[in-house]
Amino acid sequence: MITGTITSTSTNTNDMRLVDAHCHLEAEEFRGQLDALLAEARAAGVVKLVTASVTPEQWPVSRALGRYYPEVAFAWGVHPWYAEARHFELLDALRGARAAGASAIGEIGLDAKIETPPMALQERMFTEQLSIAKENDLPVVLHCRGAFNELIRILNQVGAPARGGLVHAFSGSVEIAEALMDHGIRFSMGGALTYKPSRKRVAVLDRIYPGHFLLETDSPDLPPVQAREGPNVPANILHNLAGAAAILGLPEEEIAARTTDNAYRLFGFPEVDHATP
Ligand SMILES: [Zn+2]
Repeated sequence: MITGTITSTSTNTNDMRLVDAHCHLEAEEFRGQLDALLAEARAAGVVKLVTASVTPEQWPVSRALGRYYPEVAFAWGVHPWYAEARHFELLDALRGARAAGASAIGEIGLDAKIETPPMALQERMFTEQLSIAKENDLPVVLHCRGAFNELIRILNQVGAPARGGLVHAFSGSVEIAEALMDHGIRFSMGGALTYKPSRKRVAVLDRIYPGHFLLETDSPDLPPVQAREGPNVPANILHNLAGAAAILGLPEEEIAARTTDNAYRLFGFPEVDHATP
């Protein structure tokens, strides 16, 4: 548990509206700090945050956060890192995600860069949850590392939800992005936007901007280089925005408007809060 104060970041002075499309406000690190953290995010221009649960144990927490903080939307899912055989019976509760107020099914997906859980279990868990997202008519929030071919194969077999989804912290190639876009998938990026840009990242960003690109922080993980001591916080989205602006050679205001619009459409947020800062 981190007890220090949350590091202050720059304040948005341009009336920009930003959406943190992927974070984990349920995290232990943030316990007791969310009022301050969200006030700071608001000051940075963040009008919406999508917090993603990673285990069934977090689902009640995510829902409580969504009820308590008007700017917080939530996703219910079982993250591939935490998939266990016992979770399959709990997926019945996931069928009630939409009724519970969830804006997406996530964080779900595949990770080939870890030893356990085995890929066969991850694939079963992902396939089940993808079907539930379709039944619920909700978009999916996806995690994928080193397993894009498997992810695309399952999307081809099961089909993507009509409302598509989001691969967060997208690390794939332009070719993979194109295959995923065929399924209505968008992409968010966070701290990686502040790293020295690789040729691949520049090419991907050029391809997915403006229609398929969203901003995220993945707080408390993946901090930007400017705040690498961590934990990462949603207000750090301004660093990620600056990174995207530098790569794309476009004004921050334009990227803020586009990414916020993309997030509102994907998650189906009512336009009315679009107008209220
Ligand atoms: Zn995440």
